[in-house]
Amino acid sequence: MKCPKCNSDLMPTIRHKIEVNYCQSCKGMWLESKELEQLEDEVFDFGEHAKGTLVFGSKPTTAKCPECNALLKRFRYRLNDLEMEFCENQHGYWLDDDEDTRVLELMKKEEVDMQRKLLAEDKWATTLKHMRSRSFLSKVRDLFH
Ligand SMILES: [Zn+2]
Ligand SMILES: [Zn+2]
Repeated sequence: MKCPKCNSDLMPTIRHKIEVNYCQSCKGMWLESKELEQLEDEVFDFGEHAKGTLVFGSKPTTAKCPECNALLKRFRYRLNDLEMEFCENQHGYWLDDDEDTRVLELMKKEEVDMQRKLLAEDKWATTLKHMRSRSFLSKVRDLFH
């Protein structure tokens, strides 16, 4: 599998408890989508509060899905101020250079502020697991239609 940004080989790596395909030259990572069991809904309340949680990316991308070569589309997951690209054919997501670490730092800060019991790293892992589910990918895809 090749990196959509710099065409280097992607290496399977575990980062922050999550398996990703990591690019050692540009430090980006590809997250394949997975068929997942339904996760606890209370962690992800996409009800009224979550309106506008997912937003369009305004900039078109030139990066291609490592699996099907379709152009990736950019969107923003506002809850964690996370920008990522995804394949419309539901193959997965691309995260830029150390984006996961940046978001994890934000979560750690929030954890201190809110004195949450859930560890930031677990929360990150759960968030990504959720994002890799088919149902979430469909939600993201709906944004663009
Ligand atoms: Zn790369
Ligand atoms: Zn694809």
